Amino acid sequence: MTSGVSQQAQLAKRIAELKAERRAIILAHYYTLPEVQEVADFTGDSLALSQKAAEVDADVILFAGVRFMAETAKVLSPERTVLLPVPDAGCSLADSCDATKLAEWKREHPGVMVVSYVNTSVEVKAHTDICCTSSNALKVVQSIPADQPILFVPDRNLGSYIKKVTGRENMTLWEGCCLIHEDFCPEGLAKLKSENPGVKVLAHPECNNSILEQADVIGSTADLLRYCDCEEQRFIVVTEVGILHQMQQSHPDKEFLPAPKRGGGCNECRDMKKVTLESICSALENLAPKVEIEESVRKAAEGSILRMISLK
Ligand code: SF4
Repeated sequence: MTSGVSQQAQLAKRIAELKAERRAIILAHYYTLPEVQEVADFTGDSLALSQKAAEVDADVILFAGVRFMAETAKVLSPERTVLLPVPDAGCSLADSCDATKLAEWKREHPGVMVVSYVNTSVEVKAHTDICCTSSNALKVVQSIPADQPILFVPDRNLGSYIKKVTGRENMTLWEGCCLIHEDFCPEGLAKLKSENPGVKVLAHPECNNSILEQADVIGSTADLLRYCDCEEQRFIVVTEVGILHQMQQSHPDKEFLPAPKRGGGCNECRDMKKVTLESICSALENLAPKVEIEESVRKAAEGSILRMISLK
């Protein structure tokens, strides 16, 4: 019987062959399965992945991640084939903002600038003035004149964190959130901290304020990864558990403790874990499922992403 490991090795070998045949590149988010990150040409957070999608030299982009990420790649590279191995890999945060409701809100509030987190559908981006990620949200908001009213979409937690840091009063927040980040347990985190004195708490700004006020460092997955280069040895990580793979790989001698969820639930984004080596292999074999976007929607969404990417 073939062991799981050699099966994975065979799949990884076949993926490498198919990549060469198809002139394909694999982009994977940090939250995907470790074996998926291993076969990727590039691994990163949302900002890095969208920048990469805009500049790759390949006929096919396979996006190991969730739908909004693959849509962003297609918006930026319309002439390329963009594959999303598991078409129903979604995002609770992106689902928390509906494009029709946003369009209605805009009609009722003329003159308000819409800043959308990249965790939104392509249709929401088409109604957006400028996108942002957790890496550059502060910079994006600070680039907008202080007297310009803003609607921040869709993450109320990231929005309220940015509002607090900038002291900006004219910023309305959409009532959305990521169900994974929303559900970390503040009491459980306080207990884990007290049991591990001196440990540094690293938190993603998609967490709510009761978590963020206990954090030593607040930042995007890339920011949190970078922070681990410091001399500290032990960390509590309050974000999706997939990032621990990268942290542990870069620092095998350090200790990373996942933060507890309410009711002892797991801190995995199930949608990110839907992408497997099998689904990648099949997508490259069949050049499907493809991401297709209606051209008028793509064009409208493109400006909001390019405005973000071009912000220095
Ligand atoms: S962790 Fe949250 S924000 Fe990230 S893809 Fe999963 S549901 Fe969306």
